Amino acid sequence: MNLKILLLPGDGIGAEVTSAAVEVLNATAKKFGHTVEYTEGLIGGIAIHKTGKPLPEDTMQKALAADATLMGAVGLPEFDSTPPSQRPERGLLDLRAGLEVFANLRPVKAWPSLIESSPLKNHLVEGVDLLIVRELTGGLYFGTPRFLDGDRAVNTMTYTRREIERVARKAFGFARQRRWKLTSVDKPNVLECSQLWRKVVTEIGKEYPDVELDHMLVDTCAMQIVLNPKRFAVILTENMFGDILSDEGAVLAGSIGMLPSASLGDKKGLYEPVHGSAPDIAGQNKANPLGAIGSVAAMFEYSFGLIKEAAAINTAIGRVLEAGRVTADLKPKGNPLTTDQVGKAVSEAL
Ligand code: NAD
Repeated sequence: MNLKILLLPGDGIGAEVTSAAVEVLNATAKKFGHTVEYTEGLIGGIAIHKTGKPLPEDTMQKALAADATLMGAVGLPEFDSTPPSQRPERGLLDLRAGLEVFANLRPVKAWPSLIESSPLKNHLVEGVDLLIVRELTGGLYFGTPRFLDGDRAVNTMTYTRREIERVARKAFGFARQRRWKLTSVDKPNVLECSQLWRKVVTEIGKEYPDVELDHMLVDTCAMQIVLNPKRFAVILTENMFGDILSDEGAVLAGSIGMLPSASLGDKKGLYEPVHGSAPDIAGQNKANPLGAIGSVAAMFEYSFGLIKEAAAINTAIGRVLEAGRVTADLKPKGNPLTTDQVGKAVSEAL
Protein backbone atom coordinates (compact mmCIF):
# COMPACT_ATOMS: atom_id res chain seq x y z
CA MET A 1 0.00 0.00 0.00
CA ASN A 2 1.19 3.58 -0.67
CA LEU A 3 0.57 5.82 2.34
CA LYS A 4 0.37 9.59 1.76
CA ILE A 5 1.17 11.24 5.06
CA LEU A 6 1.46 14.89 6.05
CA LEU A 7 3.88 15.62 8.90
CA LEU A 8 3.23 18.64 11.11
CA PRO A 9 5.94 18.62 13.81
CA GLY A 10 4.79 21.98 15.27
CA ASP A 11 6.41 23.52 18.36
CA GLY A 12 8.58 22.51 21.31
CA ILE A 13 8.89 18.76 21.80
CA GLY A 14 6.49 18.28 18.86
CA ALA A 15 9.42 18.09 16.44
CA GLU A 16 11.38 15.68 18.66
CA VAL A 17 8.58 13.16 19.21
CA THR A 18 7.46 13.37 15.56
CA SER A 19 10.95 12.48 14.40
CA ALA A 20 11.01 9.37 16.64
CA ALA A 21 7.50 8.43 15.45
CA VAL A 22 8.57 8.74 11.79
CA GLU A 23 11.45 6.35 12.47
CA VAL A 24 8.93 3.77 13.71
CA LEU A 25 6.55 4.51 10.84
CA ASN A 26 9.35 3.86 8.32
CA ALA A 27 10.41 0.66 10.10
CA THR A 28 6.80 -0.59 10.09
CA ALA A 29 6.29 0.26 6.41
CA LYS A 30 9.52 -1.55 5.53
CA LYS A 31 8.63 -4.64 7.57
CA PHE A 32 5.17 -4.97 6.01
CA GLY A 33 6.08 -3.88 2.44
CA HIS A 34 4.36 -0.47 2.27
CA THR A 35 5.69 2.72 0.73
CA VAL A 36 5.27 6.12 2.37
CA GLU A 37 5.05 9.48 0.59
CA TYR A 38 5.64 12.32 3.04
CA THR A 39 4.80 15.98 2.77
CA GLU A 40 5.64 18.43 5.56
CA GLY A 41 3.84 21.57 6.73
CA LEU A 42 3.84 24.36 9.30
CA ILE A 43 1.43 24.73 12.19
CA GLY A 44 1.37 26.59 15.51
CA GLY A 45 3.97 29.05 16.78
CA ILE A 46 6.53 28.17 14.14
CA ALA A 47 3.90 28.85 11.45
CA ILE A 48 3.11 32.26 13.00
CA HIS A 49 6.81 33.12 12.93
CA LYS A 50 7.27 32.08 9.31
CA THR A 51 3.92 33.07 7.75
CA GLY A 52 2.02 35.20 10.28
CA LYS A 53 -0.73 32.57 10.60
CA PRO A 54 -1.10 29.57 12.98
CA LEU A 55 -2.55 27.48 10.12
CA PRO A 56 -1.28 28.63 6.71
CA GLU A 57 -3.56 27.82 3.76
CA ASP A 58 -0.75 25.70 2.29
CA THR A 59 -0.86 23.41 5.36
CA MET A 60 -4.64 23.02 5.14
CA GLN A 61 -4.39 22.12 1.43
CA LYS A 62 -1.66 19.56 2.14
CA ALA A 63 -3.78 18.02 4.93
CA LEU A 64 -6.77 17.72 2.60
CA ALA A 65 -4.57 16.08 -0.05
CA ALA A 66 -2.94 13.56 2.34
CA ASP A 67 -4.50 10.26 3.48
CA ALA A 68 -3.60 11.06 7.09
CA THR A 69 -1.81 13.73 9.12
CA LEU A 70 0.67 13.12 11.94
CA MET A 71 1.08 16.11 14.24
CA GLY A 72 3.51 16.76 17.12
CA ALA A 73 2.26 19.58 19.34
CA VAL A 74 1.61 23.32 19.22
CA GLY A 75 2.15 26.13 21.72
CA LEU A 76 4.93 28.52 22.71
CA PRO A 77 5.11 30.46 26.00
CA GLU A 78 5.71 33.76 24.14
CA PHE A 79 2.08 33.63 22.94
CA ASP A 80 0.61 33.05 26.41
CA SER A 81 -0.98 36.50 26.65
CA THR A 82 -2.00 36.71 22.97
CA PRO A 83 -5.78 36.59 22.24
CA PRO A 84 -7.04 33.04 21.47
CA SER A 85 -7.64 33.81 17.79
CA GLN A 86 -3.93 34.57 17.22
CA ARG A 87 -2.41 31.82 19.33
CA PRO A 88 -0.63 28.71 18.01
CA GLU A 89 -3.45 26.51 19.42
CA ARG A 90 -5.90 28.20 17.02
CA GLY A 91 -4.04 26.48 14.19
CA LEU A 92 -4.88 23.08 15.62
CA LEU A 93 -8.53 23.97 16.20
CA ASP A 94 -8.82 25.22 12.60
CA LEU A 95 -7.09 22.10 11.27
CA ARG A 96 -9.55 19.85 13.14
CA ALA A 97 -12.47 21.90 11.83
CA GLY A 98 -11.08 21.98 8.25
CA LEU A 99 -10.59 18.20 8.21
CA GLU A 100 -14.01 17.74 9.86
CA VAL A 101 -12.54 15.30 12.36
CA PHE A 102 -15.38 15.29 14.85
CA ALA A 103 -14.45 12.29 16.98
CA ASN A 104 -11.30 12.28 19.07
CA LEU A 105 -10.23 8.86 20.35
CA ARG A 106 -7.99 8.71 23.38
CA PRO A 107 -7.19 5.19 24.53
CA VAL A 108 -5.94 4.94 28.12
CA LYS A 109 -4.12 1.72 28.88
CA ALA A 110 -2.27 0.76 32.03
CA TRP A 111 0.81 -1.06 30.70
CA PRO A 112 1.77 -3.74 33.27
CA SER A 113 5.39 -2.53 33.43
CA LEU A 114 4.25 1.03 34.20
CA ILE A 115 1.89 0.31 37.07
CA GLU A 116 4.47 1.67 39.52
CA SER A 117 4.66 4.98 37.58
CA SER A 118 1.03 5.78 38.34
CA PRO A 119 0.42 7.71 41.56
CA LEU A 120 -2.71 5.58 42.13
CA LYS A 121 -2.67 2.30 44.05
CA ASN A 122 -1.66 -0.67 41.87
CA HIS A 123 -4.91 -2.60 42.30
CA LEU A 124 -6.90 0.37 40.97
CA VAL A 125 -4.80 0.76 37.84
CA GLU A 126 -3.99 -2.85 36.92
CA GLY A 127 -5.97 -3.94 33.85
CA VAL A 128 -7.32 -0.47 32.96
CA ASP A 129 -8.08 -0.35 29.23
CA LEU A 130 -10.54 2.36 28.34
CA LEU A 131 -11.28 4.57 25.37
CA ILE A 132 -12.40 8.17 25.67
CA VAL A 133 -14.36 9.39 22.64
CA ARG A 134 -14.44 13.18 22.76
CA GLU A 135 -16.58 15.30 20.44
CA LEU A 136 -14.02 17.56 18.78
CA THR A 137 -15.54 20.18 16.52
CA GLY A 138 -18.44 21.57 18.54
CA GLY A 139 -19.25 22.91 21.99
CA LEU A 140 -17.55 25.77 23.80
CA TYR A 141 -14.38 25.66 21.72
CA PHE A 142 -16.19 26.66 18.54
CA GLY A 143 -19.49 28.28 19.66
CA THR A 144 -20.19 31.93 18.88
CA PRO A 145 -20.62 34.64 20.05
CA ARG A 146 -17.33 34.63 21.87
CA PHE A 147 -15.48 37.71 23.09
CA LEU A 148 -13.60 39.38 25.90
CA ASP A 149 -14.86 42.92 26.43
CA GLY A 150 -13.21 44.62 29.37
CA ASP A 151 -14.67 43.06 32.49
CA ARG A 152 -17.14 40.85 30.66
CA ALA A 153 -16.34 37.70 28.70
CA VAL A 154 -18.64 35.41 26.74
CA ASN A 155 -18.29 31.91 25.35
CA THR A 156 -21.09 29.90 23.85
CA MET A 157 -21.72 26.19 24.19
CA THR A 158 -23.76 24.92 21.29
CA TYR A 159 -24.60 21.45 19.98
CA THR A 160 -26.90 20.22 17.24
CA ARG A 161 -28.57 16.83 16.93
CA ARG A 162 -26.41 16.01 13.89
CA GLU A 163 -23.17 16.73 15.78
CA ILE A 164 -24.20 14.47 18.64
CA GLU A 165 -25.53 11.67 16.43
CA ARG A 166 -22.38 11.26 14.34
CA VAL A 167 -19.98 11.11 17.29
CA ALA A 168 -22.36 8.84 19.22
CA ARG A 169 -22.48 6.36 16.32
CA LYS A 170 -18.68 6.24 16.22
CA ALA A 171 -18.54 5.63 19.98
CA PHE A 172 -21.17 2.87 19.89
CA GLY A 173 -19.20 1.25 17.06
CA PHE A 174 -16.04 1.22 19.19
CA ALA A 175 -18.01 -0.09 22.19
CA ARG A 176 -18.77 -3.21 20.10
CA GLN A 177 -15.01 -3.86 20.05
CA ARG A 178 -14.60 -3.08 23.76
CA ARG A 179 -16.77 -5.07 26.12
CA TRP A 180 -20.06 -3.74 24.61
CA LYS A 181 -20.24 -1.01 27.24
CA LEU A 182 -20.62 2.75 26.74
CA THR A 183 -20.79 5.49 29.36
CA SER A 184 -22.08 8.83 28.08
CA VAL A 185 -20.90 11.75 30.21
CA ASP A 186 -22.86 15.02 30.47
CA LYS A 187 -24.40 17.52 32.91
CA PRO A 188 -28.11 17.84 32.07
CA ASN A 189 -29.02 19.07 35.55
CA VAL A 190 -27.32 22.38 34.62
CA LEU A 191 -26.81 22.53 30.84
CA GLU A 192 -29.41 22.48 28.05
CA CYS A 193 -26.71 21.20 25.68
CA SER A 194 -26.39 18.17 27.93
CA GLN A 195 -30.17 17.64 27.93
CA LEU A 196 -30.07 17.37 24.14
CA TRP A 197 -26.90 15.24 24.38
CA ARG A 198 -28.56 12.70 26.69
CA LYS A 199 -31.76 12.54 24.62
CA VAL A 200 -29.90 11.99 21.32
CA VAL A 201 -27.40 9.48 22.74
CA THR A 202 -30.27 7.49 24.26
CA GLU A 203 -32.04 7.43 20.87
CA ILE A 204 -28.89 6.35 18.99
CA GLY A 205 -28.39 3.69 21.67
CA LYS A 206 -31.56 1.97 20.41
CA GLU A 207 -29.69 1.27 17.13
CA TYR A 208 -27.10 -0.64 19.19
CA PRO A 209 -29.21 -2.85 21.52
CA ASP A 210 -26.20 -5.13 22.14
CA VAL A 211 -24.27 -2.24 23.77
CA GLU A 212 -24.98 -1.49 27.43
CA LEU A 213 -25.41 2.29 27.76
CA ASP A 214 -25.23 4.25 30.98
CA HIS A 215 -25.18 8.00 31.63
CA MET A 216 -22.97 9.74 34.17
CA LEU A 217 -22.60 13.33 35.33
CA VAL A 218 -19.21 14.78 34.47
CA ASP A 219 -18.36 15.53 38.10
CA THR A 220 -19.15 11.93 39.10
CA CYS A 221 -17.08 10.68 36.16
CA ALA A 222 -14.09 12.79 37.24
CA MET A 223 -14.25 10.96 40.59
CA GLN A 224 -14.88 7.50 39.16
CA ILE A 225 -11.89 7.70 36.78
CA VAL A 226 -9.58 7.70 39.80
CA LEU A 227 -11.74 5.66 42.21
CA ASN A 228 -12.76 2.82 39.89
CA PRO A 229 -11.33 3.27 36.39
CA LYS A 230 -11.89 -0.38 35.46
CA ARG A 231 -15.66 0.21 35.41
CA PHE A 232 -15.23 2.06 32.09
CA ALA A 233 -14.85 0.54 28.63
CA VAL A 234 -15.80 3.49 26.38
CA ILE A 235 -16.55 7.02 27.61
CA LEU A 236 -18.40 9.33 25.20
CA THR A 237 -18.47 13.03 25.97
CA GLU A 238 -18.56 16.56 24.57
CA ASN A 239 -15.54 18.65 23.67
CA MET A 240 -14.51 20.40 26.90
CA PHE A 241 -15.48 17.60 29.30
CA GLY A 242 -13.44 15.24 27.10
CA ASP A 243 -10.42 17.54 27.13
CA ILE A 244 -10.37 17.56 30.92
CA LEU A 245 -11.25 13.90 31.54
CA SER A 246 -8.63 12.62 29.11
CA ASP A 247 -5.85 14.48 30.91
CA GLU A 248 -7.12 12.90 34.13
CA GLY A 249 -6.86 9.58 32.31
CA ALA A 250 -3.18 10.36 31.73
CA VAL A 251 -2.57 9.77 35.42
CA LEU A 252 -3.62 6.15 34.97
CA ALA A 253 -1.10 5.64 32.16
CA GLY A 254 1.85 6.81 34.26
CA SER A 255 2.85 9.80 32.10
CA ILE A 256 1.07 12.14 29.76
CA GLY A 257 3.83 11.33 27.28
CA MET A 258 2.37 7.81 26.89
CA LEU A 259 -1.01 8.80 25.48
CA PRO A 260 -1.79 8.64 21.75
CA SER A 261 -4.84 10.10 20.06
CA ALA A 262 -6.70 9.77 16.79
CA SER A 263 -9.17 12.30 15.44
CA LEU A 264 -11.56 10.88 12.89
CA GLY A 265 -14.22 12.19 10.58
CA ASP A 266 -15.95 10.50 7.70
CA LYS A 267 -12.88 10.83 5.43
CA LYS A 268 -9.67 12.04 7.04
CA GLY A 269 -7.66 11.12 10.13
CA LEU A 270 -5.45 13.36 12.29
CA TYR A 271 -3.07 11.65 14.71
CA GLU A 272 -1.21 13.32 17.57
CA PRO A 273 0.01 12.57 21.06
CA VAL A 274 -2.24 13.99 23.78
CA HIS A 275 0.50 16.09 25.39
CA GLY A 276 1.41 19.68 24.51
CA SER A 277 4.70 21.25 23.43
CA ALA A 278 6.23 20.93 26.94
CA PRO A 279 8.38 24.10 26.82
CA ASP A 280 10.06 23.04 30.10
CA ILE A 281 11.84 20.11 28.40
CA ALA A 282 11.85 21.19 24.74
CA GLY A 283 15.13 20.91 22.83
CA GLN A 284 16.65 18.49 25.36
CA ASN A 285 15.93 15.20 23.54
CA LYS A 286 14.27 13.79 26.65
CA ALA A 287 10.56 13.86 25.77
CA ASN A 288 8.75 10.55 25.81
CA PRO A 289 7.84 9.73 22.17
CA LEU A 290 5.61 6.73 22.96
CA GLY A 291 2.38 8.79 22.72
CA ALA A 292 3.44 9.91 19.23
CA ILE A 293 4.49 6.35 18.33
CA GLY A 294 1.15 5.01 19.60
CA SER A 295 -0.51 7.61 17.37
CA VAL A 296 1.28 6.04 14.39
CA ALA A 297 -0.20 2.67 15.41
CA ALA A 298 -3.64 4.31 15.52
CA MET A 299 -3.01 5.75 12.04
CA PHE A 300 -2.28 2.29 10.61
CA GLU A 301 -5.45 0.96 12.20
CA TYR A 302 -7.99 3.72 11.58
CA SER A 303 -6.81 5.45 8.38
CA PHE A 304 -5.49 2.41 6.51
CA GLY A 305 -7.29 -0.54 8.16
CA LEU A 306 -3.86 -2.17 8.70
CA ILE A 307 -4.57 -3.93 11.98
CA LYS A 308 -1.48 -6.21 11.99
CA GLU A 309 0.84 -3.24 11.54
CA ALA A 310 -0.88 -1.41 14.42
CA ALA A 311 -0.65 -4.48 16.66
CA ALA A 312 3.05 -4.92 15.81
CA ILE A 313 3.81 -1.34 16.92
CA ASN A 314 1.85 -1.75 20.15
CA THR A 315 3.63 -5.03 20.89
CA ALA A 316 6.98 -3.34 20.26
CA ILE A 317 6.02 -0.51 22.65
CA GLY A 318 5.17 -3.14 25.29
CA ARG A 319 8.59 -4.83 24.83
CA VAL A 320 10.47 -1.56 25.16
CA LEU A 321 8.52 -0.74 28.33
CA GLU A 322 9.20 -4.17 29.81
CA ALA A 323 12.92 -3.80 29.07
CA GLY A 324 12.88 -0.42 30.87
CA ARG A 325 14.24 1.30 27.74
CA VAL A 326 12.29 4.48 28.44
CA THR A 327 12.66 8.24 28.95
CA ALA A 328 13.11 9.98 32.32
CA ASP A 329 9.39 10.74 32.88
CA LEU A 330 8.79 6.98 33.36
CA LYS A 331 11.48 6.81 36.05
CA PRO A 332 13.46 3.80 34.76
CA LYS A 333 15.71 1.91 37.19
CA GLY A 334 18.77 2.44 34.95
CA ASN A 335 19.79 5.47 32.91
CA PRO A 336 16.90 7.03 31.02
CA LEU A 337 16.99 6.87 27.22
CA THR A 338 16.73 9.92 24.97
CA THR A 339 13.76 10.54 22.67
CA ASP A 340 15.77 9.33 19.65
CA GLN A 341 16.95 6.22 21.47
CA VAL A 342 13.37 5.23 22.38
CA GLY A 343 12.39 5.63 18.70
CA LYS A 344 15.27 3.35 17.73
CA ALA A 345 14.42 0.87 20.50
CA VAL A 346 10.81 0.54 19.28
CA SER A 347 12.00 0.15 15.66
CA GLU A 348 14.42 -2.59 16.74
CA ALA A 349 11.69 -4.33 18.75
CA LEU A 350 9.52 -4.40 15.63
P1 NAD B 1 2.20 19.85 28.27
O1 NAD B 1 1.49 18.59 27.92
O2 NAD B 1 3.01 20.46 27.19
O3 NAD B 1 3.15 19.60 29.54
C1 NAD B 1 2.66 19.25 30.82
C2 NAD B 1 3.77 18.57 31.64
O4 NAD B 1 3.97 17.26 31.12
C3 NAD B 1 5.12 19.27 31.52
O5 NAD B 1 5.79 19.17 32.75
C4 NAD B 1 5.86 18.49 30.47
O6 NAD B 1 7.26 18.50 30.61
C5 NAD B 1 5.30 17.07 30.66
N1 NAD B 1 5.25 16.36 29.37
C6 NAD B 1 4.39 16.58 28.36
N2 NAD B 1 4.64 15.76 27.34
C7 NAD B 1 5.69 15.00 27.72
C8 NAD B 1 6.42 13.97 27.08
N3 NAD B 1 6.15 13.55 25.84
N4 NAD B 1 7.47 13.41 27.75
C9 NAD B 1 7.78 13.81 29.00
N5 NAD B 1 7.09 14.78 29.66
C10 NAD B 1 6.08 15.37 29.02
O7 NAD B 1 1.09 20.88 28.78
P2 NAD B 1 1.25 22.42 29.21
O8 NAD B 1 2.57 22.63 29.87
O9 NAD B 1 0.00 22.75 29.91
O10 NAD B 1 1.24 23.23 27.84
C11 NAD B 1 2.41 23.64 27.13
C12 NAD B 1 1.98 24.24 25.79
O11 NAD B 1 1.40 23.23 24.97
C13 NAD B 1 0.93 25.33 25.92
O12 NAD B 1 1.21 26.32 24.97
C14 NAD B 1 -0.38 24.61 25.59
O13 NAD B 1 -1.36 25.48 25.09
C15 NAD B 1 0.09 23.64 24.54
N6 NAD B 1 -0.73 22.42 24.41
C16 NAD B 1 -0.83 21.91 23.15
C17 NAD B 1 -1.51 20.72 22.96
C18 NAD B 1 -1.54 20.13 21.58
O14 NAD B 1 -0.73 20.52 20.74
N7 NAD B 1 -2.39 19.16 21.31
C19 NAD B 1 -2.08 20.04 24.04
C20 NAD B 1 -1.93 20.58 25.33
C21 NAD B 1 -1.25 21.78 25.49
